[in-house]
Amino acid sequence: MTGYDQRIVPVAGVVGDPVAHSLSPLIMSTWLDWHGLEGRYEAIEIRPDHFRSGIDELRSAGYRGVNVTLPHKEAAFSIADEVSEGARHIRAANLLRFEDSRLHADNTDVFGIRCALEELECDPARPVVLVGAGGAARAALHVLIEDGFSQIRILNRTRERAQALLDTMQVDGQVYDMNDPDVAVYQAGLVINATSLGMTGQPALEIDLSGLDQDAGIFDMVYTPLKTDLLLSAEARNHRTVEGLTMLIAQARPSFQAFFGLEAPSEEACPLRKKLVDRLEQRS
Ligand code: NAP
Repeated sequence: MTGYDQRIVPVAGVVGDPVAHSLSPLIMSTWLDWHGLEGRYEAIEIRPDHFRSGIDELRSAGYRGVNVTLPHKEAAFSIADEVSEGARHIRAANLLRFEDSRLHADNTDVFGIRCALEELECDPARPVVLVGAGGAARAALHVLIEDGFSQIRILNRTRERAQALLDTMQVDGQVYDMNDPDVAVYQAGLVINATSLGMTGQPALEIDLSGLDQDAGIFDMVYTPLKTDLLLSAEARNHRTVEGLTMLIAQARPSFQAFFGLEAPSEEACPLRKKLVDRLEQRS
């Protein structure tokens, strides 16, 4: 690993407000244990009005970097000295690395979404329906564009926000009405839920999937519950599906490598999924 003193125990963390619910410490400690590596990864609460000073303190304390969760992802982008292409396009970062006295920002949600979509192997020539217009939808739109999806249909509760997302990312897509999602999914080859609809305690995302292509795939970013109503109805229609937990695990991999200099082990070598499911079940 470049730029780091190998004699010092590496320390990293996740910053957010709130942050106690984050599953990142469990993910990182599982991978650290598997490698038998000395290292620490902590959840650190930073208030929005102290974000910059909080990051500076962690850097001075010798942290190698941090993951960044809500509500700081845009602030993390804006304070960085160097930004990856993905973070620049999305204008948000969830990974800050402190290296060579520079602050490097990246967005590993891009990697997590790409891994999820690779499992579905959808045809980029078919229409894709993206539900949502927040940060996660923005990252998904970046991946869709990079992967050559050319017919983008987007719907969101706040319709203007969907149009603004297309405009700011300079994407030639179509905005559909959230109250009539069945029109949007007609002959689509991929549906992505990037809202909190379907999450425990939230209303379900209700879409009639009968108009979809027979071989369409469905990716739901929500991971509590593991199987949302959307995924259950997609499976009942024999569509290929990917759960939000797949993205959650995948987006952590580049961060582990960045902080600790080693590749995160595969699920086969180091079962992590069950640990996460158990933790989520304990909470519910
Ligand atoms: P965000 O920026 O706050 O955006 C929230 C989105 O959900 C917006 O599109 C919002 O619509 C919509 N929404 C919220 N409540 C709604 C309701 N009652 N009815 C209709 N739409 C509603 O949040 P985000 O960061 O994009 O996250 C969105 C989801 O993705 C969350 O469930 C999050 O847990 C999940 N996520 C998962 C992963 C993973 O690794 N699996 C990673 C990131 C995010 P408006 O614009 O109208 O408010």
